[in-house]
Amino acid sequence: MKNLLKSVLVGSVAVLALTACESTIATTPSTENAAMVAQSPSAANIERHITFLADDSLKGREAGTEGYQQAADYVAAELEKLGLEPAGDDGSWFQQVPLRTTTRDMDGAFMSLAKGGEVQALTHLDDYIIGFPSNGEADEISAEMVFVGYGLQAPEFGIDDYAGVDVEGKIVVVLLGTSADMPSEEAAHYNSTRTRRLTAEANGAVGMISVYDKASSQRFPWDRVKLGAGRASMSWVKKDGTTFTPAPGIKVTATMSPDQGAMLFDGAEMSYADVLAMTDEGTNRPPAFELSGKATLKSKAVSEQVTSPNVVAILPGSDPDLKDEYVLLSAHLDHTGQRESDDPEVDTINNGALDNASGIATTLEATRMLGVLAEAGELRRSVVVTAVTAEEKGLLGSEYYANYPTVPLDSIVANVNLDMPIITYPFVDVIAFGADHSSLGETVREAAAKMDLELIPDPIPQLSIFTRSDHYRFVQQGIPAVFLFLGFGNGGEQEFNDFMNNRYHRVGDDLDQTLDFEQGARFAKLNYLVAKSIANADERPTWNEGNFFGELFSKD
Ligand SMILES: [Zn+2]
Repeated sequence: MKNLLKSVLVGSVAVLALTACESTIATTPSTENAAMVAQSPSAANIERHITFLADDSLKGREAGTEGYQQAADYVAAELEKLGLEPAGDDGSWFQQVPLRTTTRDMDGAFMSLAKGGEVQALTHLDDYIIGFPSNGEADEISAEMVFVGYGLQAPEFGIDDYAGVDVEGKIVVVLLGTSADMPSEEAAHYNSTRTRRLTAEANGAVGMISVYDKASSQRFPWDRVKLGAGRASMSWVKKDGTTFTPAPGIKVTATMSPDQGAMLFDGAEMSYADVLAMTDEGTNRPPAFELSGKATLKSKAVSEQVTSPNVVAILPGSDPDLKDEYVLLSAHLDHTGQRESDDPEVDTINNGALDNASGIATTLEATRMLGVLAEAGELRRSVVVTAVTAEEKGLLGSEYYANYPTVPLDSIVANVNLDMPIITYPFVDVIAFGADHSSLGETVREAAAKMDLELIPDPIPQLSIFTRSDHYRFVQQGIPAVFLFLGFGNGGEQEFNDFMNNRYHRVGDDLDQTLDFEQGARFAKLNYLVAKSIANADERPTWNEGNFFGELFSKD
């Protein structure tokens, strides 16, 4: 508490200094002065924000909790102090996001196979795990089955796992796991459960049963998968009151245990063992074929609704031709809350100091600097700042905003996202996930160069980070986006690995770890320079010619 007070004071001194400088600007409106002030990011501000947001009293900022609301109130108050305008629901700082938590009703799970007059009932959790019903309540299907390999249709890569079969009204059986030789981000798109479900739906299927490939049995041991079956899943609720599901036409799904997948293939033209042997070759894609018999799947769930806000604000630009266009800055405000323990002595709070209090702090400080620019009449486009909820539940707050933006969707020219800046070392280079897909890559490269920082290629392409944080929800709406991250030089790689292995999503991601607020300030400056460059450019950012994601999600 003492520390908190001290940093608030330091923060106010910074604000006073800024005000003094601003009055100088008012009398002598020179670009140099505005730039001088704006380009001085404050480590004290970064410290103050992180210290507040990662405090134990916020209990890990889980979406839907009181602690999260306190964090949202804090961010709204800070944005108000910085002179931004509220841009949430009906002139408020908040866009309320209705979230629905769904849990399996274990007694409602049912699966049977009917073949040649015989019906075999399977045992839930031993033989299979039922998926959530797509309507969020209860549903059942009974249909013939068709095996469709990995369930991919990727014309750019010459892949059509549905070739030669008709799955209309049927249940598709797909291999779990990744296949095919394609770049990691494209692979992440195609191999995601969402894309596979959408593909099955687009082909007319009504259900999906997943079976393991060999690599998956090792990556996802059944004992662990089984334990996860009791866990809740969260989604957002559309304005018509229904829960958002990517492919509602796929009514029920199930996953077979590795030991029981074979029974689906009894009597078919290839056995499960033959299929697995084929996929072992990597590029050798098994053909699609009909399976014999019929499967019946029933799923039931219980759900509960909570509401949690995105904080949304606008910093108006001043160019009459461009101020109705927006640069969207985003960072998630929520974290994973508390873990369970019966021992009152044990620390249970996942404070999320780096994930993502540091991203919010950086965004707030960059916004302060942009505000100085706007004050001087030097910000052309407007900037939307959003602190989104429920990222940890599946990028839900950003998906809600991307579906119900509070400014016209096509007026959002770009998204710059921050998630988990690891401000523990003096960084000498930067990463921009998504840099290869649009003109934003060059924008970041130039902004970084002004700080003598090198933009390095994605050092961890195998993780497909581009598809795994909030900016991807905007990409899915056709908006070019980058996710800025501290580079791996000067010990950065070790710091990243150390964080991921020891503190990520654990109680150790708190204020006791060594945080270097000066690096947060430098990172805020980079974020500011990137946003400024997008806001003040004559042209809005564009997807690279023929880019995979640009073509896939483009609205025109
Ligand atoms: Zn996280």
